[in-house]
Amino acid sequence: MSSENGRRHVVIVGGGFAGLGCAQKLADHEDMHVTLLDRNNYHQFQPLLYQVATSLLAPADIAHSLREVFADQDNVDVKLAEISEVDLASKTVKSGDGGEWSGDALVLAAGSQPNFFGTQGAPENSFPLYSLDNATQLRSRILGLLEQVDRDPKLIDRGALNFVIVGGGPTGVEVAGAIGDMIELTLPAEYRNVDASRAHIYLVDLGDALLKPFSDKAHHYVANVLKKKGVDVHLGTGVKEVHTGHAVLSDGTLVPTRCVIWGGGIKAAPVAANCGLAQGRGGRIDVQPDLTLAGSPGAYAIGDIANISGPDGQPLPQLGSVALQSGKAAAENILADFHGKPREPFVYRDKGIMAMIGRTEAIAAVGKKHHEVHGQLAHLAWLGVHASLMTGTRDKIEAIIEWGWDRFSKTGGPHVLDRGEAAEIDWEDDPAVMPSAAS
Ligand SMILES: Cc1cc2nc3c(=O)[nH]c(=O)nc-3n(C[C@H](O)[C@H](O)[C@H](O)COP(=O)(O)OP(=O)(O)OC[C@H]3O[C@@H](n4cnc5c(N)ncnc54)[C@H](O)[C@@H]3O)c2cc1C
Repeated sequence: MSSENGRRHVVIVGGGFAGLGCAQKLADHEDMHVTLLDRNNYHQFQPLLYQVATSLLAPADIAHSLREVFADQDNVDVKLAEISEVDLASKTVKSGDGGEWSGDALVLAAGSQPNFFGTQGAPENSFPLYSLDNATQLRSRILGLLEQVDRDPKLIDRGALNFVIVGGGPTGVEVAGAIGDMIELTLPAEYRNVDASRAHIYLVDLGDALLKPFSDKAHHYVANVLKKKGVDVHLGTGVKEVHTGHAVLSDGTLVPTRCVIWGGGIKAAPVAANCGLAQGRGGRIDVQPDLTLAGSPGAYAIGDIANISGPDGQPLPQLGSVALQSGKAAAENILADFHGKPREPFVYRDKGIMAMIGRTEAIAAVGKKHHEVHGQLAHLAWLGVHASLMTGTRDKIEAIIEWGWDRFSKTGGPHVLDRGEAAEIDWEDDPAVMPSAAS
């Protein structure tokens, strides 16, 4: 038995919303010992990555040290480890650098990774937005482009102010709105020599509407708000190829650009492929109604890595609220198991969906019936929900101050170019957009 000091031992892989929710619930029970493993020593708040990428928030506003979260709970150990092997039968996980952990229960909560759907050049040449590392790289690329155009306006002819955003879901819409604001407000205030009128934001999506799960009325609202922010929306259009200096759209259009932002889809984290189970939709792990894995007693999958069925039999969406609630529900079932009680099926309490479009506009479908609100009211709902989801009080206060500052200032938050490698561009590396080829 892997129990420690007479306590039952639970190993959790991943300290996102799901893993953290599970660990926090178990930490309240003195007869439990938790080992929380993550490849980062912090919890990252993914819904706000786009605000870091567009300089509205600082990285520290959305990343919270996992050790600090559990500083007062001696029954939770945090370990920095990237798990590469999973043995469900012995409930053991291993990291590539020789670490090994076994538990009485094992919880897989390793989240998602970007899905490039085989798009040529996208993994190497586009900027996904799935981690804090991604967000700071994108921020440095955007700021690097503005700095370079400030010194050499001719680079605009080679696509330096063209931004191509792939995917019309919340990530794509939110980042498009925020870049629109940056161009309208930050450029005139801080990059006075950059001709903002020459910037071009493309938002492409293969479907027939942005933010598909919302109503038709909402689709029009979103399209109008983005249009006012200078975003050029191309529906029914994908990105076929991404090169170092240009992107090719599915209709054949060649767009010179040094900034393709990937919000085009996600799939399960690689851990899902390493546990010997058949993978379901999106490469995710199918779970039973009580979040356990069939044939592996004591093993659970929660959050984005799991295919969790909703009341209609369809998989629940990959959302922070699904992850958090499934984490807490898995903890309840682990406790029930250890205390000889029956496990309960997971019931998701749908509090709605929302997206922010630039600084002041937002759309929210609130509650189980998804009652839609737009504009200021939705913006306030968005602020409230996201502040309440944040891990620590300090994070909440700092983020609210930043949001307030951003709402009333023209320039937004910290325009810090701290990832030199992402900002560095070899302008001669793409023959298709060299001046001689373009003319
Ligand atoms: C840009 C963006 C915007 C979003 N906006 C919203 C929104 O507005 N509202 C909403 O509800 N949801 C939103 N989501 C979705 C939401 O963030 C996810 O559904 C949620 O984060 C899933 O939680 P999780 O714990 O399952 O996974 P994650 O939050 O991805 O956490 C997984 C954790 O596992 C760790 N990990 C991964 N692999 C390993 C490994 N091999 N070894 C060790 N550790 C590992 C990771 O470091 C990470 O800490 C957004 C997502 C993105 C990317």
